[in-house]
Amino acid sequence: MTDVIKVYGASWCPDCRRSKRFLGDQRIAFEWHDIEAERESIRIVQERNDGNNVIPTIVFPDGSHVSEPSNEELAEKLGLERSAMLHVYDLIIIGGGPAGLTTSIYAARENLETLVIDSKGLGGQAGVTERLDNYPGFPEGIGGAELADRIVRQAQRYGVELLQAVSVVSITGDGEQVDVETATGDHYHARAALIASGSSYRRTNAPGEDDLIGAGIHFCATCDGPFYKGAKEIVVLGGGNSGLEEGLFLKQFVDEVTILERSDRLAASRLLQDKVASTDGMRVLLDREVKAFKKKDDGSGKLGAIEVEYLTTGEVEELHPAAAFEFIGLDPNTDFVKGQVELDERGLIVTDAALQTSIPGVFAAGDVRAGSTKQLASAVGEGAAAAICIRQYLDALDAKPVHMM
Ligand SMILES: Cc1cc2nc3c(=O)[nH]c(=O)nc-3n(C[C@H](O)[C@H](O)[C@H](O)COP(=O)(O)OP(=O)(O)OC[C@H]3O[C@@H](n4cnc5c(N)ncnc54)[C@H](O)[C@@H]3O)c2cc1C
Repeated sequence: MTDVIKVYGASWCPDCRRSKRFLGDQRIAFEWHDIEAERESIRIVQERNDGNNVIPTIVFPDGSHVSEPSNEELAEKLGLERSAMLHVYDLIIIGGGPAGLTTSIYAARENLETLVIDSKGLGGQAGVTERLDNYPGFPEGIGGAELADRIVRQAQRYGVELLQAVSVVSITGDGEQVDVETATGDHYHARAALIASGSSYRRTNAPGEDDLIGAGIHFCATCDGPFYKGAKEIVVLGGGNSGLEEGLFLKQFVDEVTILERSDRLAASRLLQDKVASTDGMRVLLDREVKAFKKKDDGSGKLGAIEVEYLTTGEVEELHPAAAFEFIGLDPNTDFVKGQVELDERGLIVTDAALQTSIPGVFAAGDVRAGSTKQLASAVGEGAAAAICIRQYLDALDAKPVHMM
């Protein structure tokens, strides 16, 4: 038994930083144990995770633990208050990534009572990105977590109410009022809402994938790549910019990185393709589709083989890498508005020129919006534009004549 929460992880792991930040934000005392510095800590992590290195692993004073928890799971485990202070706001923003937070800063500066609700930690994809080198104003680049923290502090300075670890499950509106329902069963009302729920990593959905996530199948090279230091081979799925970039990053840990691409050509930029071609130990296999992921026979539950079909000939071969990293695209986080808001064929939210969705008073901005460019600077720009459009919408609503009964 321990008398304080213990967080086991590594300094380079963004999910560990997120969990630590989450605990810190809630002012909950915890002890940090770096598995790279303490042999005993790695033993505890493996003991708690069927022999796997899953971090963060968080052990509670009652002896229970959670592994790789979302902030929502952690909040529930900790019995945290997850309800907002009011029930009625001027503006409710779903998603506390760069787009949503930017809108909140603009709105709060105009004295709009603003609530931001995020299912995970604030900062969105930017908050878990190792380094951002193309965001204007930071000539040396900036860490994603640091940029996210700065935007959050700016929103707090203007009195934006921020809820994290709370998912929105539905949005409805009638042109006068919007109703937002959360997974915690709360209903909040507002005169307008913004959906800025971004996107999440896509999976292959091949047999065996679910069981092996975290045990040889990963989605974040900076988070999990270092686990494979010294291994012979890593497979990267996806021949786009992310696949090649992350593959080149992973090469520092292993002898060989194999990029598997489903189509007959790489979609990555010419610059990245040249870099891959000129780097020893990088190989590219085109026209290959993953048919199944298989576990090792030794009972460890770890990835043993990837069954791959060569689409040109139909031939199936097995690869035996230490791990597979998937970079096959992103899916918009719009499941919670399916059937309520008009989506395009890729599931992105359709808006008009004023960023308004098919529900009057509900706007969308950032990566989740059809036509967005999936870049941080664009998400921030769309967040600012949405704030201005929402202001105009609210002004028009205020100017509507009131009908006396
Ligand atoms: C690994 C990686 C590296 C990147 N590198 C760069 C780069 O170098 N340069 C660049 O310009 N861009 C980069 N990007 C892209 C950039 O981070 C995104 O374009 C940007 O974060 C989009 O912002 P957003 O606010 O629209 O969405 P997101 O950042 O995705 O934020 C959306 C938020 O909504 C929340 N949410 C989702 N569903 C719900 C729900 N139902 N209820 C409540 N909240 C919900 C999510 O938890 C999330 O916090 C990178 C992205 C990744 C993943």
